[in-house]
Amino acid sequence: MSFDNLGLRAKLLDTVAELGYKEATPIQKKAIPAIIAGRDILAGAQTGTGKTAAFVLPILQLLDLTRIKRTFPRALVITPTRELAAQVGQSVEKYGKKLPFKSAQIFGGVSMNPQTEKLRRGVDIIVATPGRLLDHAKSKVLDLSRIEILVLDEADRMLDMGFIHDIKRIINLLPQKRQNLLFSATYSDEIRELATSLLEEPEMIDIAERNSVAEKVEQIMYPTQHCHKRELLSKLIQDENWDRVLVFTRTKHGADRLARQLKKDKINAVSIHGDKSQSARMRALSDFKSSKARVLVATDIAARGLDIDRLPYVVNYDLPAVAEDYVHRIGRTGRAGLDGIAISLVSFDQIKQLKAIERLLGKKITERRVDGFEYDKTDRAATKISTQSKPQRSKKDAQAKPHSFRANQTRESNVAKEKPKQKRSGRPWASKKTQPRKKKRSRRRF
Ligand code: ADP
Ligand code: MG
Repeated sequence: MSFDNLGLRAKLLDTVAELGYKEATPIQKKAIPAIIAGRDILAGAQTGTGKTAAFVLPILQLLDLTRIKRTFPRALVITPTRELAAQVGQSVEKYGKKLPFKSAQIFGGVSMNPQTEKLRRGVDIIVATPGRLLDHAKSKVLDLSRIEILVLDEADRMLDMGFIHDIKRIINLLPQKRQNLLFSATYSDEIRELATSLLEEPEMIDIAERNSVAEKVEQIMYPTQHCHKRELLSKLIQDENWDRVLVFTRTKHGADRLARQLKKDKINAVSIHGDKSQSARMRALSDFKSSKARVLVATDIAARGLDIDRLPYVVNYDLPAVAEDYVHRIGRTGRAGLDGIAISLVSFDQIKQLKAIERLLGKKITERRVDGFEYDKTDRAATKISTQSKPQRSKKDAQAKPHSFRANQTRESNVAKEKPKQKRSGRPWASKKTQPRKKKRSRRRF
């Protein structure tokens, strides 16, 4: 029982034992004692390594050690997406079930009133997305002046999504003296900058197994023409009898369209992305989790942090533009020691991305072919012509988001950046019509 000597109290040890956790994960072994000792931490660890328990357990312990009669928010966890806030909020309840603390999940897209009521009645721990948290702070029902511990979960994703100003605003509402825990999958310059301004003599925890998930998960790629992807995916799902398949597309539009097409093929599919209402997002995720839907088609909104039980198949319908996102996506499978398979459908125009991913992984992804679906490597020109003459809508979507609009877009959309292709030459169909319409609402709140 390696949880024993991390300094956790008996009630918390009982809880983890009941959950069937036998051994603390590497990040838990390092982070739990450091947090209990009151240190700030900057932690990087591969997805699926149990980061949530690594901060929730010691936070519960610290709150329990210094119990106060009145209830007010003492710990604040900020996450980039609503789904992740809900999930971390559930973990707080799960890990804290033997303790009397109350927690609230605060995120946008749903009515403020129940959240306001909850806050008014008093909570100890808040798990929130930035925008809605600030809305509550404005309305005075939320007093953040006595927060003792601040957690930024998936901090690099939050910066990617343009939340730095919201985060700074939130930090201004917190007391000067507090403990800060920063979790990030990558160490970009921006993260270093945030860490320097936020953390005091942090304990650096870097669980170096950057690509361990990627190693555990079987990875396969199918070379295929863009126009054949949907058919190939249907065929694979049906022929190989896949259940519980998470499919990533590059664009929101592409996600909706693919879900519709799969349904036509009698495969029950739902989609999730940032343009959907929050109730639709929650319904899609719960239908998928309860196996009512066999396929969940998602943009990168679902790539970070989401923990879906027994998820054997992850499909990259489009390869992500940034190689690291591939690791996050496939990290949804192969969790908690289970097997997972990651399948990528790679069209000719995505070979560059494939190479970048293989460089990051330090290995080649196994190639499989299905007769009649593969592209012809020797006929590059033909492939190009066929895609150009019959443009895919998803490409238009990409076209519709040039770099100059990206900052706006990410703030609006509450999802991962749906990154435009780097190269935008040689696309005759890129007419004015495909240029972005400025959305009326300048910003959608979390
Ligand atoms: P991360 O945030 O690092 O991606 P999570 O905190 O979401 O990972 O945890 C991933 C999964 O591992 C969850 O289902 C969680 O219940 C499980 N888990 C966490 N810690 C342990 C442990 N020590 N032993 C077994 N399972 C664990
Ligand atoms: Mg996590």
